[in-house]
Amino acid sequence: MSADDREVHVLMVTAAMQGQLNPMLRFAKRLVSNGVHVTLATTELARQRMLKHNTLSSQNTTIQLEFFSDGLSLEFDREKNFELFVESLRTKASRNLSYLVSNLTKNNNFSCMIVNGFMPWWVDVAADHGIPAAMLWNQASAIYSIYYHYFKHPNLFPDLENPNGIVELPGMPLLKIEDLPSFIFPTENACMTKLVSEFVQYLDKVKWVLGVSVYELEKNIVNSMASLTPILSIGPLVSPFLLGKEETVPFKVDMWTAEDYCIEWLDNQLPSSVFYVSFGSMKVLSQKQMDNIATGLKKSNKPFLWVAKPPEKGCEMKAGELPSWFLEEKEGIGLVVKWCSQEKVLMHQAVACFMTHCGWSSTLETVVAGVPVIAYPEWTDQLTNAKLLTDVFKVGVRIRNGEDGVASAEDVERRIVEVIDGPGAVEIKKRAMELKEAAKEAMEVGGSSEHNFNQFIDEIARKPCHTESTHDV
Ligand code: UDP
Repeated sequence: MSADDREVHVLMVTAAMQGQLNPMLRFAKRLVSNGVHVTLATTELARQRMLKHNTLSSQNTTIQLEFFSDGLSLEFDREKNFELFVESLRTKASRNLSYLVSNLTKNNNFSCMIVNGFMPWWVDVAADHGIPAAMLWNQASAIYSIYYHYFKHPNLFPDLENPNGIVELPGMPLLKIEDLPSFIFPTENACMTKLVSEFVQYLDKVKWVLGVSVYELEKNIVNSMASLTPILSIGPLVSPFLLGKEETVPFKVDMWTAEDYCIEWLDNQLPSSVFYVSFGSMKVLSQKQMDNIATGLKKSNKPFLWVAKPPEKGCEMKAGELPSWFLEEKEGIGLVVKWCSQEKVLMHQAVACFMTHCGWSSTLETVVAGVPVIAYPEWTDQLTNAKLLTDVFKVGVRIRNGEDGVASAEDVERRIVEVIDGPGAVEIKKRAMELKEAAKEAMEVGGSSEHNFNQFIDEIARKPCHTESTHDV
């Protein structure tokens, strides 16, 4: 029986932050293509952004969009005042969401409400309205397990201030302190640590935790969580394009415009020759980092495509600039853009390797595309993702900071040559291709992702609507 026969209607909720909205949208599209009705509720900022990019009216309406206020004015600088923003999401946005759900449930019977793992309090809104709740966890399953154990079994974590400390967790290789996500450290912003601890507390209140990672990539970790609070791997949650499939539900919320001429530039490069550099949407490189990457690139003598995204307005960090000598000398060798269609770049046959900050989306995208990496993480889950990429998936090498806290130009050059031409390069590429296949297979009929996805749909379809409460599940 397909979802169509059962009129399954799901309410998905997330705040309008690109990194949170994208995985929700991708999951929404997958649900819609499988006959599930989806209402996606997000904050007013998304409406404003879509109006600006003129994408609101032109969207395919297979996903019903609803908006609620996060309790702050549209002009409020959320990045600069992050703690206030989170507090407002926790309190005012929860109330506004509840009003919205009251209205929506007058005409809709929701089988499930799927909330973002980083906005866990909205599980209470689902419970108040008698809707079973699921959480979408859009980072690695390894991070899920680390946060779970850190807050439930703190004795497994020795003194985090001892740089030589080792953490041993089920299903994982031994982790050094430097491999742990920074949000658990005492030195970290207390607001983030609190958020993660709330996430773990709310796990007891949800019926399903859905992970965007691929079961086969993190099998031992996922299995080790099965008897605790299981995570159902429904990934790779990436664009169908990366899996060689067509986009059947076109729907986008774009924040930046991709400079697509870089794809034409790639068309003119030799296969597996180009080094791609990008640090995601938020990272601001210091001058020293810019200088060293530029010098390393030049010395390696490889063609390159570098996404040097300008910092957002109001960014307080002093952003480095591309050195002027580099801008003159790069002509004919490399290209610098402000933003690109990263998935198209990673799938391009000219791309040989990716220097990444190891944000989870970039990590998953590069694995699915079969592109080896140089991992250059800085904080949060990036540190653990770098460990996964290099020591568990074994699809690349990690660059380390020197004593001045920055990777040297020599190391940048050395790592580029190592991962493209070094003695281990063939093995790394072979492994990358194997994981690419495994990720694809997970999505095929009978694959792990397909199986878990269907199991979830079956379970929510069986669930009577307006249950008493999900608090006791
Ligand atoms: N991305 C993109 N174009 C770029 C750089 C990044 O489309 O020029 C996308 C990339 O494909 C990924 C997201 O931006 O989906 C970055 O997410 P990630 O989790 O890697 O890093 P974050 O931006 O959250 O630090």
